[in-house]
Amino acid sequence: MGNIFSLRAAEDNWQSYTQYAMDSDWFCVVCGGPFNLEGEVYNLDSKERSYQWLFDFRLLGNLSDMLNHRVTGEDAHPANLSDSDDVFLSDKAWFSMTYTGYFCVGDAYGGEIWFDALRKERNSGTLIALHDACISISCRVIEHLQTTRKDNEKTSSLLILNKTLQDRFRNGAHRSPRKDRDLLDLGTTSKTFGPRSVLALNRLEWWGGYFEKFYTNPIHIPNLTCFAMEILHASPNMKDVEKETPHSKREPQGIERLPNELIDHICTYLPAPACIALHRVSKRLFNKVPLDTSFWRNSLLSGNLLPHIWDLDKNELQLPALESTKDWRTVARLLETKRFAISECDARLDDIPNGLWNRCRIWSIMEEAFDDHVSRS
Ligand SMILES: [Zn+2]
Repeated sequence: MGNIFSLRAAEDNWQSYTQYAMDSDWFCVVCGGPFNLEGEVYNLDSKERSYQWLFDFRLLGNLSDMLNHRVTGEDAHPANLSDSDDVFLSDKAWFSMTYTGYFCVGDAYGGEIWFDALRKERNSGTLIALHDACISISCRVIEHLQTTRKDNEKTSSLLILNKTLQDRFRNGAHRSPRKDRDLLDLGTTSKTFGPRSVLALNRLEWWGGYFEKFYTNPIHIPNLTCFAMEILHASPNMKDVEKETPHSKREPQGIERLPNELIDHICTYLPAPACIALHRVSKRLFNKVPLDTSFWRNSLLSGNLLPHIWDLDKNELQLPALESTKDWRTVARLLETKRFAISECDARLDDIPNGLWNRCRIWSIMEEAFDDHVSRS
């Protein structure tokens, strides 16, 4: 049976309908979500707790962009929360259609400074409005990607985020032809994964309530641990899973000669991906570095196995009854999924919390954007 996403009209009037539905031409360029929930077309409760993160946003840009895009309060200086000297990150901003799309931040004396965001300026960057949650997730993606690079050079994640978005803004070749401000092709739809953001929903999907998961808080996910438990209980125990124990006929070499106790001790200092890499080096290390259920559980709970899963409740998942034979490897494998196909997804992921689904979506969008940015640098 077809999913509602497969029923898309071939020629849906995307641009005009999205604009109408959101009652605004302004959206976060990372997630595609709005900064307010005004308007009459929503069949949603704008006071719903899980939607409140949409109201929490900031302005990001180069310091010079902040000055160029300031439309009031020329003598006032907004607080800069950036950790980089070259980047401006405002305090919490607000927005109202009444002011024809200007964004506002407070100054140190209780006054207001208004900014004209995402306006084009010849030979300069712009000021970009982003949800606080989207900035946070983007910075986590960058920090993770930096740990996987070999040069060990650490750069401010906010600086990289700003540079990536500014480059996209300047380079029209990356943009969706349908929308000037759509820096990350959020108005597009994949046949396999469906709409990339709420901007790509058609009329039928809007009224079917499919905006809900795009609007759910991607940072605070109250049912995340419960969902991990459900996967655990729905998976067969480890003792039922066939184990491979390859044997090597050659003499042990290098680190393979170390006693098991010492290798165990070394592994306690290594991040989970390094242990997995060590496990795969040779048949002998396959046996000396066993990736048993404790390894998967501890790595998952520590947050260093899956960088987008940093907030499982350790107390809830460290119960003795959940330790010995449960298949934590499968839990990790399923939680590793960040893009969910419309069909043919593992049934244990059917009840994924909306917040986790949204976090994974934003994470994938930014991972793709940064990979592309690095390949072009
Ligand atoms: Zn956002």
